[in-house]
Amino acid sequence: MDCIFCKIAAGEIPSKKVYEDDTVLAFYDIQPAAPVHILVIPKAHISGCCDVTAENSGIVAHIFEVIAKITADLGVTDYRVVSNNGTEAGQTVFHLHFHILGGRPLKGMC
Ligand code: 5GP
Ligand code: ZN
Repeated sequence: MDCIFCKIAAGEIPSKKVYEDDTVLAFYDIQPAAPVHILVIPKAHISGCCDVTAENSGIVAHIFEVIAKITADLGVTDYRVVSNNGTEAGQTVFHLHFHILGGRPLKGMC
């Protein structure tokens, strides 16, 4: 499958890693929209929120634990977590990911 985040998870494309374990990877966004802009992904391919099921939703809970750990380690207390699903919502990479945005005051929702 030609998926850029699968390639990043496999180490085939370099990334600036923040956190990694057996199932999850976090790395800095290549085009940061805020001083802190980190992407957290499952290593296994899930196309987006629309593909979360009873069978794979455990990884989403784990990702939120990882988000809490990463932000605590970085000392970022105020942040936003975003996952875009579908082109009209702004999804450009069709591998489930959660943006962590912080480091400046965040306004509005879109
Ligand atoms: P989306 O638009 O799908 O919600 O978010 C995809 C994000 O992935 C964008 O913020 C974009 O900057 C980021 N991105 C796309 N390609 C790469 C890449 O090769 N490396 C990194 N670190 N981020 C990427
Ligand atoms: Zn993928």
